[in-house]
Amino acid sequence: MTARPPAEDRCDALIVGAGPVGMTLAAALGGAGLRVALVDRADPDAQAALGADGRTTAISAGSRRVLDGVGAWAALTADACPIDAIRVADGGSPLFVHYDAAEVGDDPLGHIVDNFALRGALLARVRALPCVRLLAPAPVTEIVCGPVAATARLADGTALRAAVVLACDGRRSALRTEAGIETVEWSYGQDAIVCTVHHEHPHGNVAVEHFRPDGPFAMLPMTDAPAAAARAAGGLVHRSSIVWTERAAIAPDIAALPRAEFEFELVRRVGDRLGRLAVPGTVWRHPLALTHARHYVDRRLALVGDAAHAIHPIAGQGLNMGFRDAAALAELLVDARRCGLDIGAAGVLAGYERWRRFDNTVLAVVTDAINRLFSNDIAPLRTARRLGFGAVQRIAPARRLFMRHAMGVVGDLPRLARGETL
Ligand SMILES: Cc1cc2nc3c(=O)[nH]c(=O)nc-3n(C[C@H](O)[C@H](O)[C@H](O)COP(=O)(O)OP(=O)(O)OC[C@H]3O[C@@H](n4cnc5c(N)ncnc54)[C@H](O)[C@@H]3O)c2cc1C
Repeated sequence: MTARPPAEDRCDALIVGAGPVGMTLAAALGGAGLRVALVDRADPDAQAALGADGRTTAISAGSRRVLDGVGAWAALTADACPIDAIRVADGGSPLFVHYDAAEVGDDPLGHIVDNFALRGALLARVRALPCVRLLAPAPVTEIVCGPVAATARLADGTALRAAVVLACDGRRSALRTEAGIETVEWSYGQDAIVCTVHHEHPHGNVAVEHFRPDGPFAMLPMTDAPAAAARAAGGLVHRSSIVWTERAAIAPDIAALPRAEFEFELVRRVGDRLGRLAVPGTVWRHPLALTHARHYVDRRLALVGDAAHAIHPIAGQGLNMGFRDAAALAELLVDARRCGLDIGAAGVLAGYERWRRFDNTVLAVVTDAINRLFSNDIAPLRTARRLGFGAVQRIAPARRLFMRHAMGVVGDLPRLARGETL
């Protein structure tokens, strides 16, 4: 007698990848009553543990509204440091642009949150939603996107059937590759060296970015350290997150320097503004590349977040783009369901690609251009940069326009990013 294949579990949406974008999308759809299966090959608790990811994320004001709308922001407020101002300087030049949140309203320009805390807050939210079924760690062994439904099989034998598959599996998306969706991509020949630095003086909630010939150097304000972490840093309680971009040829040597020498190199870049410095934790390194999918959708499949686009972190926008993708797609799927439509229909998914691909292309191009314009020491470009800095610092409407873009509150925003309910 042949064994019968296991019965398929049915859901509305199968989300592959429980990263910040996949979990936000699951929380949005599950919160609106759609049945969601959320799958990740890795253990989500391990990914949300302290020390799993040394990065922080600059969450724009628009993304904060999305996180609030899906019920995850309240758990983050205690650990989110407001950005009240951003100071941008060109290398050693005395010229700078100072963006002050007070010029555009009462809200901060954004917040800095630890990536592990962000994952933890989203994980707690998806676990609390009865419509979301989290299956992880559970590698996907097969996905078939057919004309009337998509079916998937997990390594433990679980079989799933869904109206639509949402690929949130990151910049090296296996689902994108399997669907044969091509990408535009190139390496920046730069690595981001990332660590948390403890310092003597408070940062005043000011984010600092210095454009240097080898790449941008950013110091992002964090909340003060918990007591144990401050003790490990010799009593230094104030903290900032460093994103130090270097040529890929020398970044591994810098990241591997003995700690005292690494701290010395850091002081050379930061100056004495923050007093004594210490880096008690891990120094991480991320090779930087641009990847942009030529299409965001295929039969019963949509690419979301880094699976669709991964950009240079120079402006801290990659995940903010992913949150806007998740909010827009959730809105289209929920509206389609309310109208009694098939949520995996080609017309519904094409609407998502039309809405999001242009915005993401513009940001990918702009961040790429900023990196090329600033990561060099070519004299005419240096002169042009400094003229630009002087002009923006003098022209208040230009400053306000840049700030509103960085805050993610302009353009064709989805309801969640406008602070409305889904
Ligand atoms: C140094 C650095 C600093 C950055 N700073 C900022 C910032 O300040 N602001 C900002 O907006 N963005 C920032 N970014 C970008 C941001 O980190 C990414 O855009 C974000 O992590 C993308 O989230 P995601 O959920 O799409 O993908 P990921 O975070 O990559 O998550 C993908 C998930 O999919 C899972 N997965 C992968 N493959 C499979 C598979 N085959 N099956 C099942 N599961 C799978 C993974 O386990 C993971 O959980 C930065 C990036 C870098 C490198």
